[in-house]
Amino acid sequence: MEKLIIIGSGPAGLTAAIYAARANLNPLLIGGYQFGGQLMLTSEVENFPGFKDGVMGPELMQIMLEQAQRFGTKVILKDVTSVDFSDPNKKKVMVENEVYESNAVIIATGASSKWLEIPSEEKFKGRGISTCATCDGAFFKNKIVAVVGGGDSAMEEANFLARFAEKVYVIHRRNEFRASKIMQERTLNNPKIEVIWNSVISEVQGDKTVKKVILTSTTDNSTSELELDGIFLAIGHNPNTSFLDGHIELDAKGYIKTQGEHQTETSVKGVFVAGDVFDFKYKQAITAAGSGCKAALDAEKYLIEIGE
Ligand code: NAP
Repeated sequence: MEKLIIIGSGPAGLTAAIYAARANLNPLLIGGYQFGGQLMLTSEVENFPGFKDGVMGPELMQIMLEQAQRFGTKVILKDVTSVDFSDPNKKKVMVENEVYESNAVIIATGASSKWLEIPSEEKFKGRGISTCATCDGAFFKNKIVAVVGGGDSAMEEANFLARFAEKVYVIHRRNEFRASKIMQERTLNNPKIEVIWNSVISEVQGDKTVKKVILTSTTDNSTSELELDGIFLAIGHNPNTSFLDGHIELDAKGYIKTQGEHQTETSVKGVFVAGDVFDFKYKQAITAAGSGCKAALDAEKYLIEIGE
């Protein structure tokens, strides 16, 4: 039986692991098949303190992993399939056919990209529609692409894609961006980027790959066609909580509800939370890391209280 299981291997989970391992809790981190979370899909991270010249997202996650392992974190890179928190003294975490038991658990499973959810999208996933410019941008050298969204991610992706693509459209459903001013300016000043305001993609057309989209105006419902080779979605995220299946209280959007003034406790005593799986507001690597630290300290306190 473990003292502490941490589920998730993004900045929240790995920071929790560093703190818990240094507190001699010998944590087991179950990090998913896709290690590292959203930073694995990012290029350069310029705002993580301590890296004055920036750091590549995957490199930052590798450093955090090695730091956690250095102090004794055990790591399994498989997906948690379900949990059972009905026994307060023995929380169960299932990974395929195996069951891991623990006194305390930290959930730090983050969030995943949203899709448009229009009927024609499914056919072109991975055939011209992507949620990761860093991963797939290089395939669109000298091509025409569109980024959907008006937040910082959309701005970042558009500027990144402009390095490869011949032309980048940013398709946004309103007439103003929600992105930070500096990111907006970079986008609006980039000669390769053109913004299509007040529009959504209502249909994707093509053969084996994307060739064209139908745009619908959000102001008057009129439609138009736009020829392009690739579509990058940057329209936000959904929390990764489906595996919890009723064992933890969630809000209407599926984010874990927190209790207590420090936002680390969940509806189950001894089960703590960190990062984007509850925090839909800040969603930064550094805030996720901060909440991972808080969750580990609170889990440590809980383990002392129950005599572990
Ligand atoms: P976001 O801020 O939630 O923006 C999502 C965008 O997608 C919004 O503009 C939204 O439109 C649009 N959208 C949502 N659903 C849509 C749909 N079904 N169809 C069309 N458009 C849709 O998400 P984000 O850009 O991923 O950013 C998340 C957080 O990470 C933010 O706090 C951001 O500041 C941060 N971030 C920071 C950096 C950086 O500093 N380098 C980089 C990336 C992200 P509306 O505006 O109309 O709602």
